[in-house]
Amino acid sequence: MLKAAPSYAFNPQGDGKGKKVLILGGGLCGMTTAYELTKLGYSCTILEARDRVGGRCWSVRKGSHNTETGLPKQTAQLDDGQYFNAGPSRIPHHHELTLHYCKELGVPLQIYNNVNEGAYYFSEGKGPLSNQKIKVREVHNDMRGYMSELLHKSISQDKLDLALSKDDIEKVLEYLRAEGGLDIDNLYKASARRGYTVAPSTGNQAGKVAEAHRLADLISSGLTDPDFYNVAEYTYELQMTMFQAVGGMDKIATALEKKVGTLIKKGAEVTSIINTDAGVKVSYTDTTGKQEASADICICTIPLTVLSNLNHNFSSDVSRAIDYASYIATGKIGLQFKRRFWEEDEQIYGGITHTNNDLTQIFYPSNDYQSNKGVLLGYYNFNDKAIKTGNLSLIDREKLALEKGALIHPQYLKEFEKSFSVSWHKTPCSLGGWALYTSETRESMYKALLKPDKQVYFAGEHMTYLNAWMAGAFESARSVVTEVNNRLSEQRGEYKKVDK
Ligand SMILES: Cc1cc2nc3c(=O)[nH]c(=O)nc-3n(C[C@H](O)[C@H](O)[C@H](O)COP(=O)(O)OP(=O)(O)OC[C@H]3O[C@@H](n4cnc5c(N)ncnc54)[C@H](O)[C@@H]3O)c2cc1C
Repeated sequence: MLKAAPSYAFNPQGDGKGKKVLILGGGLCGMTTAYELTKLGYSCTILEARDRVGGRCWSVRKGSHNTETGLPKQTAQLDDGQYFNAGPSRIPHHHELTLHYCKELGVPLQIYNNVNEGAYYFSEGKGPLSNQKIKVREVHNDMRGYMSELLHKSISQDKLDLALSKDDIEKVLEYLRAEGGLDIDNLYKASARRGYTVAPSTGNQAGKVAEAHRLADLISSGLTDPDFYNVAEYTYELQMTMFQAVGGMDKIATALEKKVGTLIKKGAEVTSIINTDAGVKVSYTDTTGKQEASADICICTIPLTVLSNLNHNFSSDVSRAIDYASYIATGKIGLQFKRRFWEEDEQIYGGITHTNNDLTQIFYPSNDYQSNKGVLLGYYNFNDKAIKTGNLSLIDREKLALEKGALIHPQYLKEFEKSFSVSWHKTPCSLGGWALYTSETRESMYKALLKPDKQVYFAGEHMTYLNAWMAGAFESARSVVTEVNNRLSEQRGEYKKVDK
């Protein structure tokens, strides 16, 4: 008769009957919070400003719309069945809670190909290799080879003052030969690892291995610069295996909506949050005008950049932490093409091309391989580059993506159909991509928000060390459910503290 153990168990005990909880924001955190609290019997209402749920967990498809500050309303004209993930696009294999909820909510997953040795590095206007699309595998293998050769020479000539035994040194040299693909003289020469100019085939066609790039050229062309070399390959969260929701990441949000949809008031934009003696009073506007709602407890998942503009009576510490919050500027553009030329002409199936220009990255879709059309991300950029592209008109963003993209894929000009761009820092209900903290602001700001301000709790991606990840929204939801349930159970005298 025991319930099957979930892969990531969460079993708080309590009885929320008769207690009202108002949740601000119908993103992943707000909806998961309502989902878990209603399991305990709490009466929850979610106020969501947008006419859709999911917040940043958003996939753009035909009819999706967004109105950024200072720009006209944009409505996606993508073909039926075409989409791109404007927010989250990948789930790391170690984000157990995200994977858990996908399983619990019945959201099917597929592999997201984040690292593709067949995509490119593209250095615009820098050095002898500038404006050439260079396969990731070429740069990787050349750099491994040259570095291994250099180290091999240094170690062989006792140039490194290492505390290694003779046996260890032999092992290290052997490792370097294998790592770098060094030849019998322990020199780096191009091998099949970095690809062919003529592929192996039948008869006499053994294939022709491409020449290595010169080390000096790779370096002076900026291809080893830390801002785009190996970002995706080395970062903990970006290491393969990665996943995505089949049909768009917003499937996670819509699966949650199926569970808690009746509790959500869409188009309800909160304007004021006031702690009262007995609970909380929240004002919001909807199509019928100004409204008020009250509850015993309020859980606010509104991004801090947005919250900062709302009326409230929080303590000065909390108010300061909200007002000084910093979020990343980031933007994406989806480009629909008539033909998946990156697959048909260039054998690129998923993965990322990295550039040093304003595009920063081109993401190739990891779904619907070999189908007729496709949407790729023409840019996914951050900080100054995102501010610069975000300041352009919609048509100029498209122009930039096409002009710069065509340097890498000339097919763009013939095959392009439609675009849709999102600048998250200019999108009113988000005002940024995700929260950014320094070790200093973790101490001075973040900590002030970890405690409730009287009856108001703060939750969301920004209340975790998992910023920029859906896992932050899910972890924060569980954490705030535990705290609120403990508090309200204690008030009823049935307190049995249960940790997450
Ligand atoms: C460009 C981008 C790429 C990302 N990539 C990934 C990725 O690859 N993998 C991954 O796991 N995560 C990724 N993330 C992060 C992930 O999307 C977020 O961490 C997560 O969705 C945050 O959920 P949340 O519920 O905390 O916040 P939100 O989704 O922001 O929810 C807050 C809700 O509050 C609502 N709201 C705002 N103002 C008001 C108001 N005044 N009244 C009422 N409601 C209001 C908003 O409309 C929104 O629905 C990415 C995010 C972005 C922007």
